[in-house]
Amino acid sequence: MRLKRSWIEVSRSAIAANFEAVRALVGPQVEVAPVIKADAYRHGAIKVARILAPLGARWFCVSSVDEGIALREAGIDSRILVMADSLPDSLRRAVAHRLTPVLHDVAEIAKLDQAPEPVDYHLKIDSGMGRLGTRAGAANIAAAVAAARVARLDGLMTHFASAADYVSEQTGGQCEAFDRLVGELADRGVRPHWKHLSSTTAVAYGRREAWGNLVRPGHAIHGYVSQVRAGDAPPRNLLRVRPALAWKAAVLAVKELPAGAPVGYGAQFVTPRPMRIAVIAAGYADGIPHRLSNRGKVIAAGAWAPVLGAVSMDVTTIDASAAPGLRPGDSVTLIGREGAVSQDAQQLARAAGTISYDVLCGISARVERVFVD
Ligand SMILES: *Cc1c(COP(=O)(O)O)cnc(C)c1O
Repeated sequence: MRLKRSWIEVSRSAIAANFEAVRALVGPQVEVAPVIKADAYRHGAIKVARILAPLGARWFCVSSVDEGIALREAGIDSRILVMADSLPDSLRRAVAHRLTPVLHDVAEIAKLDQAPEPVDYHLKIDSGMGRLGTRAGAANIAAAVAAARVARLDGLMTHFASAADYVSEQTGGQCEAFDRLVGELADRGVRPHWKHLSSTTAVAYGRREAWGNLVRPGHAIHGYVSQVRAGDAPPRNLLRVRPALAWKAAVLAVKELPAGAPVGYGAQFVTPRPMRIAVIAAGYADGIPHRLSNRGKVIAAGAWAPVLGAVSMDVTTIDASAAPGLRPGDSVTLIGREGAVSQDAQQLARAAGTISYDVLCGISARVERVFVD
């Protein structure tokens, strides 16, 4: 097999097990709608959907109509919720591909109602995040819903701004605002089937009052749950998931440098002693955060290998002192496990001063993706 410069391995069994773990936690009364936007956080949306649809995923969530169309064209027949696309032509294209749009403004209901045949939509409520979603009151919403002839309100949703922060009262406030509006709409005869508020954090930490009858986990499906800032009652992560993605890079060169040798752009590192270094075939153009310069580490021959100097566009230099057996053509691990040593996207992100979502989505298209069992 031709050695790749850098590649990711996505575990089918991990994706499946993570989905099943979420299902087991929320129980049969709550639908699990995996969020596979951004190409399933770079894991590959079509393949991930093909793993989950046969396991019973009746819904998927994406951000854009284009992402939804790609799934439809790959033969995915589950319902697809398009969560963040209100560009001018999007509603028409969503309808044409049997996607379920999320509307963020009551005025969009009349627009969708121009569809030639019955079409479902979900309406997003801005319960306090201050991003997408309508801030209209129940009377306005109910009037627009009732005025529609073919557009049918199938769900009400909202999204939390601070679900991982149990010190803040924002999530409780958002739940109350959402529930109040749902109640006021019900009083006016508007009772859509689906109600959903929760992404991974609110699921994993058991905020059951926010599960409604559908949850939207993305991070958890790919194997991650964020740490929370705990308030009075420290919440416990109830969900056992494991990272589905490993990230590797090939070793281009290994060499010995004398003491006092500068390494890489700007001579940001100078060897304090004779050192064995290795140059790996991935850099910031592959998604290794530039902020890992002189900070991050990878795993080489089962041992930690710190990043030396600046991360370059196509290559990164590492300290291979602890990996005397490392040779050109070997691979190192950026995310994953070698023996007893492991690093996940959260650890890599912490070193780079960012979040795991950013690291995963930032793995660039030229990093080849392979699926493993
Ligand atoms: C991205 C997103 C999710 C999934 O969030 P995770 O933290 O990855 O579980 C759920 N709902 C909405 C509206 C989103 O944008």
